[in-house]
Amino acid sequence: MITPNFNYKNLKDSYLFYNISQKIKKYLEKNPDKKLYRLGIGDVSLPLCDEVIKALHEAVDDQSHKETFHGYMSELGAPFLREAVSNYYLHRGIQIPVEEVFVSSGASDELGDILDLFDKSSSALIIEPAYPAYVDANVIAGRKIFTIPSSIENGFLPEPSNNYKADIIYICSPNNPTGAVFSHKQLTQWVNFALKNDSVILFDAAYEAFIEDENVPHSIFEIEGAKKCAIEICSLSKTAGFTGTRLGYTIIPKELVKNGMCFNEMWIRNRTTKTNGVSYIIQKGGAAVFTVQGQKQIKKNIEYYKNNAKIIMKALDECGIWYCGGKNAPYIWLKCPNEMGSWDFFEYLLNEIQVIGTPGEGFGKCGNSFFRFSSFGSTEDTEEAAKRLITLLGRK
Ligand code: PLP
Repeated sequence: MITPNFNYKNLKDSYLFYNISQKIKKYLEKNPDKKLYRLGIGDVSLPLCDEVIKALHEAVDDQSHKETFHGYMSELGAPFLREAVSNYYLHRGIQIPVEEVFVSSGASDELGDILDLFDKSSSALIIEPAYPAYVDANVIAGRKIFTIPSSIENGFLPEPSNNYKADIIYICSPNNPTGAVFSHKQLTQWVNFALKNDSVILFDAAYEAFIEDENVPHSIFEIEGAKKCAIEICSLSKTAGFTGTRLGYTIIPKELVKNGMCFNEMWIRNRTTKTNGVSYIIQKGGAAVFTVQGQKQIKKNIEYYKNNAKIIMKALDECGIWYCGGKNAPYIWLKCPNEMGSWDFFEYLLNEIQVIGTPGEGFGKCGNSFFRFSSFGSTEDTEEAAKRLITLLGRK
């Protein structure tokens, strides 16, 4: 009889956002007239910018003429998009040759697929609270997972320690869910740790475009030695509103060689086997993000979300609630008031003021007394949610 992958039995019951949607569904069945104010899920609310829409339309037209029609695209990404990404790095003073850029259908897909590059026996180190997919992808692969809890005391930015060692190290900066960002010095410590232990860092830069502090690194490749120990996974989802359009890119330096195996070459082999590339139309839309006009327009959208973050932070200040994030990231991570657990706080906000957030426990045990608000909603809803928070939790 066939042996299924029994590792699926080791996954937690269901996915965080599925649990949340079930609770909301139940609430709305009982209270059909209530409007909800959603500061929970990290999906964007603004449409794609004009420059992207124009490029998408043009690409559709290209597909209607024999002379401009495109069939299968390169599995590694269209040269025009790989070049645009390489130039995007160059503008920030980082040399990433075109051959080190791989186009993907998004960071989630890539975070799962990239594990093909590592032996099943390799272990994974995950700083918690963490984006749940890191844990789940490794559970499915049957890998040994070490989690390092982070806390208010270390600003949710733990340092590496000689007490543990792992082959794959996940670093997400700006962080989902805490909004914390690693400094140059802190990332240097992690790079040195990875080099010393022959580990590979999977650097998730999905929120890079939200960084506003001048000296915060946008890329792990700003750190000396990182090309020998890191892979960077990026997404246009939050940067440019591609959550439903699907596009990302991954940087695998040629210098990343372990045990005589070059990860860049392995990934070429992997992609040419497992994909037939990302659609021409979507890649054209993606390339428009990197034009001068495209950059201006996406920055305007990011400003809109940053303004939402300010509204939420102001409300939390008025309530005297501890929080971090919100400045270089679209997420605000707060301490649940009155010693509440995160699911209790979720229910409390839902029932009392119809405001939805994300319970911290969904990102790991150490998130149990924390809660995440997202700034990706509409400003109108965010303002109303802020008002309601102040009425419910403001200092009396
Ligand atoms: N990485 C992090 C940290 C995320 O928060 C998300 C989405 O919320 C992703 C990756 C997935 O991005 P994508 O939409 O490109 O799959």
